[in-house]
Amino acid sequence: RMQRLHVAAGLSAGVPVDATPEQFNYLANVLRYEEGTEVLLFNGRDGEWKASVTFPSRKKIRLDVSEQTRPQPAPLDLQFLFAPLKVGRMDYLLQKAVEMGAGVLQPVMTQHVQGKITNLDRLQANALEAAEQCGILDIPDVKPPVKLKDLLESWSPERHIIYCDEDSDTQNPVPKLLAIGESRLAVLVGPEGGFSDDERNMLRALPYVTAIPLGPRILRADTAAVAALAVVQATIGDWR
Ligand code: SAM
Repeated sequence: RMQRLHVAAGLSAGVPVDATPEQFNYLANVLRYEEGTEVLLFNGRDGEWKASVTFPSRKKIRLDVSEQTRPQPAPLDLQFLFAPLKVGRMDYLLQKAVEMGAGVLQPVMTQHVQGKITNLDRLQANALEAAEQCGILDIPDVKPPVKLKDLLESWSPERHIIYCDEDSDTQNPVPKLLAIGESRLAVLVGPEGGFSDDERNMLRALPYVTAIPLGPRILRADTAAVAALAVVQATIGDWR
């Protein structure tokens, strides 16, 4: 499997791209690539391109771009709304959301949130690394945190929010999802401490929100994220 790398530069045949110092270290010292080894490059705009590694000097790698291997697809439309978790768990949560096809990652501050967003750049880099690994050509967009109340007040109702609620009456989410039908989608998962009753009432009162169960057990928030995104993608998502 060819290594996939994100580059900031534009991509076109015959226009070489300089590897960043981090990429140099990874390709030369970690992967020990030699002259001519091929990689795949993407920048979120020009699709995916094959490039070969060249060493203009011992300390530099230049990537000679050759041919486009995949065109730039339409942006991933699914949004993932999540209450921040403690650092390590949040990295994992974001990575899973990117792997499961979320294009927008929106941290939501709720009453019982236990995590906080201290370094948005690090989360964005983490999401980009997940994109490199899982083969998407979009750049996942990690947004600055907003309060749940503010998010809902400014929400455009043509995007339906599917919120994971362990207190739902039934256990099977599929019928409730199918009832939503055609719509642009967002998935919302609560914090380790769950949503508050006020938050639940606020969410349940909105016509563009559907509470779904994810089985009879209490899932960790990151488990719930993967379970919810998988069932949404498999029933009414675009699963791209
Ligand atoms: N409120 C519980 C508590 O305090 O132990 C659990 C919260 S759970 C760890 C975090 C989030 O995962 C919940 O807010 C919900 O969004 C989701 N979740 C966990 N289990 C779920 C289930 N069985 N059905 C639907 N959502 C679930």
